[in-house]
Parts: sequence; C-alpha cells; structure tokens
Amino acid sequence: MNIDYPSPNFDERPAGTDIDMLVLHYTGLKTLQEALDRLIDPASKVSAHYVVAENGEIFCLVPEDKRAWHAGVSYWRGLTDVNAHSIGIELENPGHEFGYHDFPSLQMNALIDLSRDLLSRYEITGRNVVGHSDIAPRRKKDPGELFDWKFMANKGVGLWPAENTGKGPWDDLEIWLSVLGYETNNITATLRAFQRHYLPSSISGQADKITRRSINALIDLVGETGSN
Ligand SMILES: [Zn+2]
Repeated sequence: MNIDYPSPNFDERPAGTDIDMLVLHYTGLKTLQEALDRLIDPASKVSAHYVVAENGEIFCLVPEDKRAWHAGVSYWRGLTDVNAHSIGIELENPGHEFGYHDFPSLQMNALIDLSRDLLSRYEITGRNVVGHSDIAPRRKKDPGELFDWKFMANKGVGLWPAENTGKGPWDDLEIWLSVLGYETNNITATLRAFQRHYLPSSISGQADKITRRSINALIDLVGETGSN
C-alpha cells in the first residue's frame, strides 16, 4: 500500500541529470513515526523518495523527478552529487544504535516490488544499486550487514558475485575497489563497506583472501554484464 507523506526537503535535479542510481538506507531511529517526522521536518534538511515500513507499507515523500536529500557527503564512480543521480529509499529499522535487527520479509518483498518498478523505468545498472555505506564508507553503516543483498540480487535488483569464482588474490585492491565505484581514502573503511554489502559474515576491514576473491568475482561480473 502506498501512502502519500510529502516532505518539503527536496530541490530540483540539475538539468540534464539522469537518474541512474538506487541508494538504500535504514532509518536508524527507534520508531517509524520518529523517522517519518524527521524526514518531513524542514529543520532536519533530510529526506528520501520512499520509506518502506516493516509491515510492507510504502510512504511516498518526494516526487521521483525531484532531488531528495538522503546521501549527504558521498561518492560513487567519480560522482559526488549522488542525490542528483539517485532515488533514495529508507527502510524502517532502528539500526546499529537502537537495536538493529533483520529486515522482515513483508518489508523485503515490498522493497523488491518498488525497486523492480524503478529499474523498469530508469536506466539503473546492477552495480549502481548501492547502500549508503557504499557511497559514504567513512561515515555510514546503513543498511548494514543484516540487509539481504543476495536475496535482492536473486530477484534482479543489484549484483551478487558468484562464490569462490574470483581468481585473486590481487595486489592493487585500492584500484579495483575504485573501479567498482568506491572512494578509497581510508582503505579499511572501504573494505568494511564492501564486506558489509558482499561478505556480511566477516566485516573485518582486512584484505583477507576471501575478500580479495570476492572483489575479483565482482569485477568479473561487472565486466561480463557489460554494465558500466
Ligand atoms: Zn543512510
């Protein structure tokens, strides 16, 4: 069920900017109402296009053709104005600060339907379906290691590297992480962001063998799909 819940926190997308990214977040507050209140409060200066509640309800806050304010200082594949290029979706979840927990299947299924609809209407490649932590690895953890990116990829939303297919290990990890799109100013933070997304059982920030192989497998996948 879609519920109109307009937020004033948006502006115009710069002329000629394509929508080619999908950015996922968690709300990180104790209750859904608290999150919605914040996302429509003019003083907060934050918003998203959609909020997906744990019960599967979808709140529509900002029209898709407007720039919602969800990414903050961020970077992906050379872009710093991620808000201009993206649709932002917030998932109800108290987050690491207030009792982080699994994302229920009602919520995941609603998110998949919404995401597939967006992917059908915009040119958003699999590698441009990202979490807030991917685009701001030094500041953000959301949607976090309990978010099931593999399930999403199996439903056609985002990429998932085949396990143990990467040739690795490689030496130039920073280069390959930046080829994927990450900023690498703090390599440990970037490795953690990568692991939160693709290796959620081992968020060490270390460039261990499994991490190298996984990075390699994802590079192979990006190459094979021809998406760029
Ligand atoms: Zn976020």
